Amino acid sequence: EPARRVRTRFAPSPSGDLHVGNVRTALYAWAWARHTGGQFVLRIEDTDRTRVSEQAIGSVLTDLRWLGLDWDEGPDVGGPFGPYLQSERLSIYHEWVRRFLADGVAYHCYCTQEELDAEREEQRAKGLPAGYSGRCRQLTAAQVAAFEAEGRRPVVRFRMAPGRTVVHDTVRGEVVFDHANIPDFVIMRADGYPLYNLAAAVDDTLMQITHIIRGDDLLASTPRQIAIYKAMGVSDDDIPVFTHCPYILAPDGKPLSKRYGSAAISWYRDNGYLPEAVVNYLALVGWSPGDDREDLTLDQIVELFDLRRVGATAGRLDPRKLDAINGDK
Ligand code: GLU
Repeated sequence: EPARRVRTRFAPSPSGDLHVGNVRTALYAWAWARHTGGQFVLRIEDTDRTRVSEQAIGSVLTDLRWLGLDWDEGPDVGGPFGPYLQSERLSIYHEWVRRFLADGVAYHCYCTQEELDAEREEQRAKGLPAGYSGRCRQLTAAQVAAFEAEGRRPVVRFRMAPGRTVVHDTVRGEVVFDHANIPDFVIMRADGYPLYNLAAAVDDTLMQITHIIRGDDLLASTPRQIAIYKAMGVSDDDIPVFTHCPYILAPDGKPLSKRYGSAAISWYRDNGYLPEAVVNYLALVGWSPGDDREDLTLDQIVELFDLRRVGATAGRLDPRKLDAINGDK
């Protein structure tokens, strides 16, 4: 069977400026697609309406264009492709939720926040891992009618079947997750907006993504997303390859935050750095071409890039190295 064409994606949540950590994963995803003659998809994860701003979406596009990271498809907005916006794909998520409910892999949960908090307290008191017990799994029609009569609006939860998931990660190797530690999770809010795991897993499947490259902080979401792929009928062979990149740290070894001035890509643009230097520099935080070359053009990064050489140690920003690279361009 011929190997599937490589398709990677960058899927930022537009809640503020892109920072160096996001951009580095975008760069790796882009470079892997270009290196393999594959395709790179840009998807804006804007379903959390409380956090999204139009301005933040605009700044994602500005930053990627400035860096030279182009994407291959998207809605026709006259001119270059627009990015996919999850907020314009709600009917797709609704359709999958409807199927999951019909198949019994998801169910309506009517618990209030107070009830969930109380349950968590109870479990903690018993020394059990605090999570959702699954008590709405088997509601009777009468219980549902009573909740509805009270005016409660349900969320939709995904049912985690017992078992374990092995995540194959190019950086971490095999990571095993026991489902006993993964309570049934909410995939759709009462207002009909999908949550991250649902929207991301549905889109990664429908967009035929073969390689998912993202930050380490999302590793724990991966078994949940794999459970959703399987519920969609994805075969084991078609589950994407994962690369969870370790954090980029500040020069002092502390976590970078958006508040840290030089974490935002716009800061580099506003302070006279060349995009070629920023890309060259970020490529080398956590990846190496296999020799000690440090002055790389975007074309050379594409030529040399290998996902298997993305390393497991957290890189630190090194402003002097960036300045040296910037001076050489
Ligand atoms: N939207 C998520 C974020 O920006 C990332 C999604 C992903 O790469 O799976 O944190």
